Amino acid sequence: MENKEGIIGMYTAADGTQWLSDPEERFGFRANWKVNRILHRVVSDYQEVAVVETEGFGKTLVLDGIVQTTEKDGFIYNEMIIHIPLATHPRPSDVCIIGGGDCGAAREAVKYPSVRNVDMVEIDPEVVKASRKYLPEVAGSGEPDPRIRFHYEDGTAFIRRRRDAYDVLVVDSSDPVGPAKVLFERPFYEDVHRSLKEDGIMVCQSESPVFHPDVLSSVHRTLKDLFPVVRTYLAAIPTYPGGVWSFTLASKKHDPLLEGSERLQEDGNRYVNRDLFESCFRLPVYVKERLQKR
Ligand code: SAM
Repeated sequence: MENKEGIIGMYTAADGTQWLSDPEERFGFRANWKVNRILHRVVSDYQEVAVVETEGFGKTLVLDGIVQTTEKDGFIYNEMIIHIPLATHPRPSDVCIIGGGDCGAAREAVKYPSVRNVDMVEIDPEVVKASRKYLPEVAGSGEPDPRIRFHYEDGTAFIRRRRDAYDVLVVDSSDPVGPAKVLFERPFYEDVHRSLKEDGIMVCQSESPVFHPDVLSSVHRTLKDLFPVVRTYLAAIPTYPGGVWSFTLASKKHDPLLEGSERLQEDGNRYVNRDLFESCFRLPVYVKERLQKR
């Protein structure tokens, strides 16, 4: 069913150049990407999966017209969503990643020698296939680390069956539309809480504090009801709308404000180091105000 025509949001400008336009307009703002080549397009059971070569950010994974990760800056998101919770846990062994089909998060997780098992629960095998074939810069090349086990199913169903199973659970989801919508809702977080061991930690990407502050505050509020420690942290990711991206960490015991930076694996990192581990929790006033809203 491969077809290189008609990627959602692509158009040809008057000068003949090709562009990908973000399907969502926010506050009259819409990102546009100059595309040099379409490398792959397939319509899976869940979404349109495409890989394009953009002029400035290299090879780029696009799902339903929304940019997910790029060759040039994918490392920032993947390091931030993995190293902060894994360093916060004193000895992470069992890790689960929900979503994360570009495989960049799983690749970071196995940098921790204490990790014995990474369950990668991705709903759409086509995302993994495309990322491994066209985006080895993010997904890695060669055989995946044997500690990574792929499960192709809805993360909500998978996690409902798990009890006291994980030290760290990472929700590496797409935006809260389509199959990922349920990954931002309370019943899922309750199941995540049950799936974690007694000192377990979860982290999720909680969208742009500029364009989707409602998502950030609702995730924060829900997790506060369930976990004693909830910390929001930020990263500057040029290709995500607004450039500032939020992550929310919720923990049954360990607090990244008190421990973790000394356990950080820095080898090969291009974004996270100890200074960054400590500073990413320092929040601007407008974000703090958002988090205080009930
Ligand atoms: N780094 C990226 C970002 O924030 O834009 C996204 C990472 S990854 C590509 C997101 C993955 O979540 C997609 O591959 C999508 O198929 C998967 N996904 C969406 N809903 C899911 C669900 N209910 N269960 C498991 N995986 C899901």
